[in-house]
Amino acid sequence: MSKKEFFREMGRTALTFDDVRLQTGYSRVPPQQVNLESKFSRNIPLKIPLVSAAMDTVTEYQMAIALAMEGGLGILHRNLSKKEQAKQVARVKNRLNALNGLKDKPITVQEEMTIEQILQMKHRKDFHFDSFPVLDENRKLVGILTGNDFDLCDDYTLTAKAVMKTDLITVPTGTPFEKAYELMKKESKKAIPIINKTGELVGLYVHKDLKAIKDGTAKKYNVDNKGNLRVGAAVGVGEDAFERCELLLQKGVDVIVIDTAHSDTLSAIQTVEELKRKYSVDLVVGNISQPESARRPINAGADGIKVGQGGGSICTTRVVSGYGRPQVTAIYCCAELARQFDIPVCADGGLRYSGDIPIAIGAGAHSVMMGKLFAGTDEAPEDIIYYQGRQWKKFRGMGSMSAMRESKGSRDRYNQSEKEEDLVPEGVDTLVPYKGSLHATIVQHLGGLRSGMGAVGAANIEELQQKADFDRITQSGQTESHPHDVHIIEEAPNYSPGR
Ligand code: IMP
Repeated sequence: MSKKEFFREMGRTALTFDDVRLQTGYSRVPPQQVNLESKFSRNIPLKIPLVSAAMDTVTEYQMAIALAMEGGLGILHRNLSKKEQAKQVARVKNRLNALNGLKDKPITVQEEMTIEQILQMKHRKDFHFDSFPVLDENRKLVGILTGNDFDLCDDYTLTAKAVMKTDLITVPTGTPFEKAYELMKKESKKAIPIINKTGELVGLYVHKDLKAIKDGTAKKYNVDNKGNLRVGAAVGVGEDAFERCELLLQKGVDVIVIDTAHSDTLSAIQTVEELKRKYSVDLVVGNISQPESARRPINAGADGIKVGQGGGSICTTRVVSGYGRPQVTAIYCCAELARQFDIPVCADGGLRYSGDIPIAIGAGAHSVMMGKLFAGTDEAPEDIIYYQGRQWKKFRGMGSMSAMRESKGSRDRYNQSEKEEDLVPEGVDTLVPYKGSLHATIVQHLGGLRSGMGAVGAANIEELQQKADFDRITQSGQTESHPHDVHIIEEAPNYSPGR
């Protein structure tokens, strides 16, 4: 039975991840050889089909940088102020250049600043690097501070001028990165400033970035055609969208996500039309769960559709408001419609295990957006909390009481007023176990996806969408799918019961 017949037979019974499993077949595809490239929207490719949720406990610039370096895409949340959100776009875009390794806007310090002031600035601005070119009052390059200078300094009242290295190795504008890399090796330098003819600092080569280009690591980064990491940002509808877009585009955002709980509305559609009239940027519109609700934003100009209503781990929409649609059926139906227009679909929310990724894509999605599965990593905002002998991180719904209380973005997403006593939340505040690095988490998710693709015989994402067929499973089939009748004695990195 084909997937089409399967869903036709299901009729009005809407299914979610736990209700189905992929059927296997003859496979000539070794899992390690599958191609995971996909698309988030018409013009925004992905090297891996993973996108991080626009949530204030999931995606700020650290997550966006780390995920783009894995090949995915982060969507900066909109509880950030307009200015801060745009600033974070700039931080992602300026992080590195994967084509030429050039940092053309290096962070500099003034020679009269004390080491203490520099360290405070580093902490305040969350800079995770140690190489600072030092400028004099005429903005001429006079020295450089590197990790060793900070580590070996035991008097923080000293100025940069007193501590910096002045035996500068510099290269002139236009020096290719290969040459700079060789020079770094020869001179044992981890950073080399680039100066123009009049001695002004115009850029910086950093060893770590050049090494990633040389050893091929940078090939897996998701970068724009200038070599800068890709990043998306969430906006609301109406004024909020217009004001944010203006600032976000100035900083080079790659894709805008219209982030609403239900986007098949007059205001969302008008916003899409207006934004498409004004700007030539990809717009992904969500969320929806019915195919006809995909048609209207697509007709209005959407370049991508985000599917998911009520399935999020922290979401109470279905019980509070009574609407929403189990995710596998929602993805399938919306993807069938979007396919007619060649518009990619992102499956947003509800994924609990890595096995849900091939199911979402098998149902027709081009990418998956994840909140909980990325929350709790080092790169997610929030500090680690120690509670009942374990390490956790805070993770909350964008429509939770605390988020609505604190942020207009959250109130707008759920059409709420300013008055606290009138707030009707559609999400909850939670803790999730601390997970360590995003990279380690992604290794597990991609491992699961590859394994599923191998068993289906899908060599790439498109083949998975085409070849996937489902079995409907029963409650006992679901019990059988998990470890059963055993006592787990060692935690697996990709499994915990009742996640
Ligand atoms: P998760 O991957 O299951 O954690 O779901 C994440 C998705 O849930 C997000 O990308 C949003 O679409 C959605 N979401 C975030 N916050 C809320 C909320 O408070 N209520 C309902 N849905 C939410």
